[in-house]
Amino acid sequence: MEKERQLLIVYPHPDDESFSVAGVAAMQADMGVPVTYACLTLGEMGRNLGNPPFATRESLPHIRKKELIAACEAIGIQDLRMMGLRDKTVEFEDDEKMIAMMRQLIDELNPSLVVTFLPNYCVHPDHEATARAVKEAVRRTPKPQRPTLYGVGFANNTVEEMGEPDVIIDISAYREHKYNALKAHASQTGWMLQELENREDSHGETTEDAWFSTEKFYTITFDDE
Ligand SMILES: [Zn+2]
Repeated sequence: MEKERQLLIVYPHPDDESFSVAGVAAMQADMGVPVTYACLTLGEMGRNLGNPPFATRESLPHIRKKELIAACEAIGIQDLRMMGLRDKTVEFEDDEKMIAMMRQLIDELNPSLVVTFLPNYCVHPDHEATARAVKEAVRRTPKPQRPTLYGVGFANNTVEEMGEPDVIIDISAYREHKYNALKAHASQTGWMLQELENREDSHGETTEDAWFSTEKFYTITFDDE
């Protein structure tokens, strides 16, 4: 992967970044690229309270904030922006307000690459609202400054309808970063990592390899290009 000028990552929930782009973000940070993560909420409505539970409704936002900071440290993200929206309500935010928020980030940072979800293929209403706003904000960026936009799609019908992702990046050198980032989100991922480790024990490398060897993206393009 080429060295970017500035990477901007936009997701609604703490842990979206670790699942989607931890390897690429770690790689770019390692190359000396400034990496900004705009995390729109603190995931305070998350259903998981740890397994076994160690969070309460009251403590979850504080715990997730700490987890988010730890995950960013594990990845090497130097610039974490907590944007202060409320979990599960991103879909009800005014579209123009969301787009303006994204435009401001793009204007300030002048990223060469923006990473978010793939509109229509990212399952959760907060994900869709985020992806829509980011895409529109990038579309409205004047062409000479317009960054490349990558979307992560993971709906069941993504590959069937969109084909295979056009960008596949080998992140195997950064698997530790990704693993540690996921581990930092213990309230949400504890069960999953346990399962991964268990599966490794019985079946060898397969599950672990799929998760930690590549990250895949769809390049989002615009009609006027
Ligand atoms: Zn999410």
